[in-house]
Amino acid sequence: MERITAARGLALRCKGWRQEALLRMLENVLENGENQQELIVYAALGKAARNWKSYHAIVDTLKQLEDGETLVIQSGKPIGIFKTHPYAPVIVMANCNLVGKWATSDNFYDLQEKGLIIWGGLTAAAWQYIGSQGVIQGTYEIFMSIARMHFAGSLAGRFVLTAGLGGMGGAQPLAGVMAGAAILCVETDENRIDKRMAAGYLQVKTASLDEALDLIREAQAEKRAISVGLHGNAAEVYPALLERGIIPDVVTDQTSAHDLLYGYIPEGLTLDEVKRQRKEDPAGLQAAARRSIAREVTAMLGFKDRGAIVFDNGNNIRTQAKLEGVTRAFEIDIFTEAFLRPLFARAIGPFRWVALSGDANDIAVIDKYILEQFSDNDIATNWIGLANKYVPVEGLPARIGWFGHGERTRLALAVNEMVRDGRLSGPVAFSRDHLDAASMTHPNIMTERMRDGSDAVSDWPLLNAMLNCSSMADLVTIHSGGGGYSGYMTSAGVTLVADGSEAAGLRLKTTLDNDTGLGVLRYADAGYEASLDEVQEKGIRRIDTDRYPNLMEAR
Ligand code: NAD
Repeated sequence: MERITAARGLALRCKGWRQEALLRMLENVLENGENQQELIVYAALGKAARNWKSYHAIVDTLKQLEDGETLVIQSGKPIGIFKTHPYAPVIVMANCNLVGKWATSDNFYDLQEKGLIIWGGLTAAAWQYIGSQGVIQGTYEIFMSIARMHFAGSLAGRFVLTAGLGGMGGAQPLAGVMAGAAILCVETDENRIDKRMAAGYLQVKTASLDEALDLIREAQAEKRAISVGLHGNAAEVYPALLERGIIPDVVTDQTSAHDLLYGYIPEGLTLDEVKRQRKEDPAGLQAAARRSIAREVTAMLGFKDRGAIVFDNGNNIRTQAKLEGVTRAFEIDIFTEAFLRPLFARAIGPFRWVALSGDANDIAVIDKYILEQFSDNDIATNWIGLANKYVPVEGLPARIGWFGHGERTRLALAVNEMVRDGRLSGPVAFSRDHLDAASMTHPNIMTERMRDGSDAVSDWPLLNAMLNCSSMADLVTIHSGGGGYSGYMTSAGVTLVADGSEAAGLRLKTTLDNDTGLGVLRYADAGYEASLDEVQEKGIRRIDTDRYPNLMEAR
């Protein structure tokens, strides 16, 4: 079969841009994905569609879908077309949702084997993945937050150690270089190292730990940024560094530790041996992966004890280690709570846009607009300046930018205008990571140690999805899964198409205002002062139940 790439240009294959845009987003996640043959986009097993039959059925359906019809997709398989109305979503989806007691990794693997479910990641099955760029600003903001908190504002001359150069982890070397650091990334699969180098995300590769350390030390001495990919296993390299007394300044890991069967590679095994063992002895392979994770996390704790800044980068590595007996695993901070919560409390999060025509100049025009019109927003302007300089194009040209309530709407409406008056060469799709203020409950990543203890309450992403449907979004999706697929997470995704029409303007305004509005209210409800300030400043209509009397008490 021919390799799938996203269509470019302005020729429509569907009955309108809303359907065409979503079709291109599907093609784009496959174009950018890690293993197209298996429909795998990122995060070990995160798939774009159930199987190839489903993929072709989705493509065919989108080409025929009329305005006023809604396509329903269940775990990557199109189920049916429903008559709705022209302001209803084009697509609603639910991916990888299992009821609580049944939400175990074993049940998930069994159901996936039977072809009944897929792990959709956050942005794979929702067709919102834009390559490693999708998390790069988040990773950069984490590094800069660490720089401000611990290293007088700069990572120049600092040594960052991490692992995993997959779909998302591949953002780390470039984010590290953008933050000025000398970053060492350990990766077991040489093909992934090569892929990141070809994409312009990684500078140098080696299979020798000594050579890697020399490169890092030289760069540190000259306060020069460098990214080095080391072909090796983190479960071996981390303890080896600790034994030699080499303590990095910052340590994390972004291997697919959430998945013990298809993700994390145990030490001492080749990739071929892992493939074989996956079939012959899946339980043994998972046990070996967990033992290796325990070794790696024990070394991470050793680095922490010796002064390094150590954090979990959202792959559930601490949970796996704790299950293997590393009782101190949760002394390692989670990145959201440690570095990003003040942003999420104001619903500032990873917003993103894709130039559907394929013209990279459209992204440059939007960059310029942001630099001019958001000049008072330091996060956005600093980032756009850097992204413009460093971030290469992967698939359809795209950009990520952390924006908050009101700002996303302002930007999207301006872009819709630019599509209409021809300043942009074609329509633009907007979406965001599911890791956003209203849209994710993950008590070991997004909502760990919430101020009011509401870490595991998954009403919020469900409400978010329903509100976005009511707000006329073009695609709305609900996902579950996460760490080991054992019901660690519920999340919601949304995509909107700016095709220059008035109807698009209405959809963009309503959905984006409500999406971030609910995000601010989620954190306000948990008692974060920044959110309560945002409610006041932005005029969000919060209902303060504390102001009402308790009639039982009054009696
Ligand atoms: P991926 O499956 O595409 O890549 C994982 C990489 O880790 C692979 O290249 C694999 O070869 C490598 N690897 C596995 N075991 C290793 C070991 N022992 N030593 C060294 N390398 C090893 O996954 P991804 O898309 O890059 O995501 C990685 C993890 O990050 C996942 O758990 C995902 O859920 C999580 N994630 C976090 C965020 C966030 O916001 N922080 C965002 C997206 C994904």
